[in-house]
Amino acid sequence: MRQSLVVGNWKMNGSIQSNQSLLDSLKQNIGSIQHAEMAVCPPFVYLQQARQLLENTVIGWGAQNISHQNPGAFTGELAATMLVDFGCKYVIVGHSERRNLYGESDERVAEKFAKAQSARLIPILCVGELLEEREAGEMENVVKRQLDAVINLQGVASLAKSVIAYEPVWAIGTGKTATPQQAQEVHAFIRGRIAEQDAGVAENLQILYGGSVKGSNAAELFTMPDIDGGLIGGASLKADEFLTICQAAR
Ligand code: PEP
Repeated sequence: MRQSLVVGNWKMNGSIQSNQSLLDSLKQNIGSIQHAEMAVCPPFVYLQQARQLLENTVIGWGAQNISHQNPGAFTGELAATMLVDFGCKYVIVGHSERRNLYGESDERVAEKFAKAQSARLIPILCVGELLEEREAGEMENVVKRQLDAVINLQGVASLAKSVIAYEPVWAIGTGKTATPQQAQEVHAFIRGRIAEQDAGVAENLQILYGGSVKGSNAAELFTMPDIDGGLIGGASLKADEFLTICQAAR
């Protein structure tokens, strides 16, 4: 039985003050949500604040990116081991904004996935197609290519200690959510593809949906059999929205 998971990706948002009130509000109202795992991924500089406010609560925390390198002369980069120092459980790798705005290739994302696991972080591997790729009928090929880059480098068994987030790029921050059926179709494809190589890994793998999830559409998405929760951008910045989404994850 897979546990539901809801992760907030704050992207480049927040301030010491606004984070404090958001996290305080989550902590105060989280009481009844025992059925889902929860985590937030603030910008790096607020990880210490997240740790201070979330330690000994049911809400975990993680980062939005890491370097593919070991510590060394890489100005401006952050190593996986440093995130462990700040108590991170998760790190997002391969978010479409990293792939598309910062040119991260499938191979680079796979290297980051490997670095995360070598530091015992749980990578949340984002995969998903652009609108033009979907329209060209390329959706499955794109997702397969992104997934295979990790499997080729790390082996299918490595997915057992990871989370996958299917995030159609056309649905991220656009208000255009994939329908539950559209999302389910791709989630089932991902699980099926992994099952061809390792049925046990596929069965236990948490596959999250991301792309304009809100309090009002989360429950319908989360009833789909292969959707195990969500990776939430914009709506994770509002306590009541995020809590409603967590509540919907069963
Ligand atoms: C995301 O950035 O991972 C995301 C899903 O964003 P949004 O929920 O705002 O579409």
